[in-house]
Amino acid sequence: MSNKESLNFVEIEVEKDLEAGTYAGRVHTRFPPEPNGYLHIGHAKSICLNFGLAKKYGGKTNLRFDDTNPVTEDTEYVDSIKADIKWLGFEWEGQELYASDYFEQLYEFAVKLIQDGKAYVDDSSAEEIAKMKGTPTQAGLNSPFRERTIEENLRLFEGMKNGEYPDGARVLRAKYDMASPNMLLRDPNLYRIKRAHHHRTGDKWCIYPLYDFAHGQSDAIEKITHSVCTLEFKNHRPLYDWLIESLGIYPTRQIEFARLNLEYTMMSKRKLLQLVNDKHVSGWDDPRMPTISGMRRRGYSAAAIRNFCDRIGIAKRDNVIEYASLEFSVREDLNKVATRVMGVLDPVKLVITNYPKDQVEFVEIENNPEDPESGVRSIPFSGELYIEREDFMEDPPKKFFRLGPERSVRLKSGYIITCTGFDKDPDTDAITEIRCTYYPDSKSGADTSGIKAKGTLHWVSVKEAVPVEIRLYDRLFSDPNPAGHPDQDFREFLNPDSLRYIPTAYVEPALKEAKLGQHFQFIRKGYYCLDQDSSSEKLVFNQTVGLKDSWAKKG
Ligand code: ATP
Ligand code: MG
Repeated sequence: MSNKESLNFVEIEVEKDLEAGTYAGRVHTRFPPEPNGYLHIGHAKSICLNFGLAKKYGGKTNLRFDDTNPVTEDTEYVDSIKADIKWLGFEWEGQELYASDYFEQLYEFAVKLIQDGKAYVDDSSAEEIAKMKGTPTQAGLNSPFRERTIEENLRLFEGMKNGEYPDGARVLRAKYDMASPNMLLRDPNLYRIKRAHHHRTGDKWCIYPLYDFAHGQSDAIEKITHSVCTLEFKNHRPLYDWLIESLGIYPTRQIEFARLNLEYTMMSKRKLLQLVNDKHVSGWDDPRMPTISGMRRRGYSAAAIRNFCDRIGIAKRDNVIEYASLEFSVREDLNKVATRVMGVLDPVKLVITNYPKDQVEFVEIENNPEDPESGVRSIPFSGELYIEREDFMEDPPKKFFRLGPERSVRLKSGYIITCTGFDKDPDTDAITEIRCTYYPDSKSGADTSGIKAKGTLHWVSVKEAVPVEIRLYDRLFSDPNPAGHPDQDFREFLNPDSLRYIPTAYVEPALKEAKLGQHFQFIRKGYYCLDQDSSSEKLVFNQTVGLKDSWAKKG
């Protein structure tokens, strides 16, 4: 057993069960996504928790698709979910499982409940059932169908299965307690009639179990020891336990934790689907989406997401995590793994007038100073370079340690230069060219010049520069809680400036070999990665995150 101090509360409960021998020392968790959308960062939290528990205690984790609602489910989602879990670095036990594989068994369970007088077929309409539910302060009314005989219930339930009644004509309900202070326990529905094509069982079934009758029973069938879920299921737990006891099946224990909420976005798959369908984003994997596929495309690493999920801990109460906290984890990991490269986003031409015309030399640059194993690479240097427009000022203040008339800077991995002149566009006043001289004896790593330069600038040699498109991302929503306004549609809070394009930036030639999934730090600018929209004609890079926390100051 571990040091209790460092355990989260779910681990504490699991260790209690281990100590008591409740499950014969087993820990077997599951991750149960409904295949009705792509996974998001909230799911990542649940994945890290469930797979993390199994890892810590030498157990196993099942991947079970909770596919009991045929209307919204799709195999595209199944495939993306599997890919995302693998990418996050987790492996489920054996083959993936499907609640729909248990439909036959679940049906048998329902028959048993009926035989034991614990479930009945109700012919009331949905509206009538809702009306009879009562209110939190007022007990509900027993349905006129509640006292049907076991024989009649069995016959009607079989008729439901055999397609003898139209959709919605009858439901199977648990005979629990219409006066329970917990509204969810007032004879909840267990089965409904729904003629819909299921992505796995096709048209075999026209009745489908509801969540409450599928989830716990699936857990039990798989002999899951700990069914870890989010807080909204806390009120379902008495029913979960009652069904297990009534059916005499494996006594899985449900433990609830607070779902992850992240500011400036939202986790509802239904709402995320609306963004996709309405084309507010380019797809589920749009780099602005809170989905795992979006974050991957944006350049977030799996390690960064896992570290983030660990760092924020497991809470018992709902809370909202700052976006800056996620970006902190991203920067922390990318700093360790990203290759440092030169990229000029807003180029202005710099000419070194005393550098031999048409000469190109290669200078060495470290691939990653944080990683001694990463080595060095050579990049072309010449007398015509691009530098960042913002690194030059015509009339700079004293504390501006970049370039200005008669000022000196070092060019990263190259030489020290001094500015001797510049040209401007007479109409716009924009700088069109900067002129400098360089000191041949000031080469980086072999500098004998004795000249001091305070600033260091990044650059790209004009002739070898590769033009690329850059996509810059900002928050998708301008409100910290876009889904939290009862009177307003969340789409009203979409940030119109969440995606900006730089049609032509220049990067060093090595980036022609960039691969999807590689991480780069554009020196002084931020972290970037190649986007899947790249083609042989045009490379596209996404900005993953800036070098500094830009959220704090935006506030
Ligand atoms: P939605 O209501 O948008 O469909 P969901 O929670 O029903 O989302 P599921 O696919 O059923 O989505 O979720 C699979 C698992 O992930 C569940 O165990 C669920 O509790 C967990 N999960 C979903 N969202 C979060 C979140 N924001 N934080 C932590 N866990 C989450
Ligand atoms: Mg769900």
